[in-house]
Amino acid sequence: MMEKLFLNELLETVTKVAIAGHTKPDGDCVGSCLGLYNYIKDQFPGTKVDVYLEPIPPEFEFLRGADKIKEITEECPEYDVFFALDCGDESRLSGILPCFQKAKKRICIDHHCSNTAYGDINYVVGDASSTSELIYHLIGSNQITKETAECLYMGIAHDTGIFQYSCTSPDTMEAAAELMRKNIDFTEIIDRTFYEKTYPQNQIMGEALCRSKMDLDGKLIYSVITFEQMAKYGASSADLDGIVSQLRVTTGVEVSLFLYETGRNSYKVSMRSKSKVDVAKIAVELGGGGHVRAAGASVDGTFDEIIAQIKEKVRQQL
Ligand code: AMP
Ligand code: MN
Ligand code: MN
Repeated sequence: MMEKLFLNELLETVTKVAIAGHTKPDGDCVGSCLGLYNYIKDQFPGTKVDVYLEPIPPEFEFLRGADKIKEITEECPEYDVFFALDCGDESRLSGILPCFQKAKKRICIDHHCSNTAYGDINYVVGDASSTSELIYHLIGSNQITKETAECLYMGIAHDTGIFQYSCTSPDTMEAAAELMRKNIDFTEIIDRTFYEKTYPQNQIMGEALCRSKMDLDGKLIYSVITFEQMAKYGASSADLDGIVSQLRVTTGVEVSLFLYETGRNSYKVSMRSKSKVDVAKIAVELGGGGHVRAAGASVDGTFDEIIAQIKEKVRQQL
């Protein structure tokens, strides 16, 4: 699905551009959207460019352009080109989907192997570390300002678990090195946006770890956070990032599952694996998507039903 995309040639021919990412924007989603936004602002000053995202986590607000992100409303102009970034299927564009659909040219830039190729051009590289890395390669290092570099570096760092996950390649490191040369404060970016947790975030992670259960001879670990627990710590779903990754590093574990309640008998499921199990495959079967080692879905059912269902799928792959 890696169709040809000549970004600069395309941008030279248009005047109204929109950019959007997936629902519940994460580091790569925000980094790639604002990275492309800043690049267009700097290199094509005559072009009108709008970014649409759901509210972003406060730790990303230091990025240039974060204060220009537009709220998703019913009304939206018709754009010459609309970029959907880091979004594997149309439904995850959420409220901005009708606006994307009516654009003259729809472009999807993504790295989810489950991507459904819903654009007119689909630049999808399933084994790339991040959408931010793809944006970097499309732009080329010469044209990148410090502000664009901050966005893209943050996105790459987040989706690679700080240059650690198997999606990290020599190309990723070369991209990161070039971005580092733009004089960005990489230590601060990683500390403030990735490692730093608020006290309630740490407390609720502690609770999730404490209540976790092991199964499949220690190969599977899972935990859940309910509405009641979120209320107890004054936490929201955005405060639960990182729990599934912490579960995954348990000795002997191959797959970690983390669920949080989203409604009566409905849960958001996050899955991570170490080296064998393809969790993207399981996520797609559950109506979600993602990557081989990190995937997710929104699932209806009781907690016990969902765990039993996923446990069976994991067992088959082990
Ligand atoms: P998460 O567990 O939410 O951090 O997501 C892990 C990966 O799976 C990310 O790359 C997401 O984009 C993808 N993902 C998570 N939830 C869904 C979903 N409901 N549908 C499709 N992809 C998802
Ligand atoms: Mn993402
Ligand atoms: Mn991503």
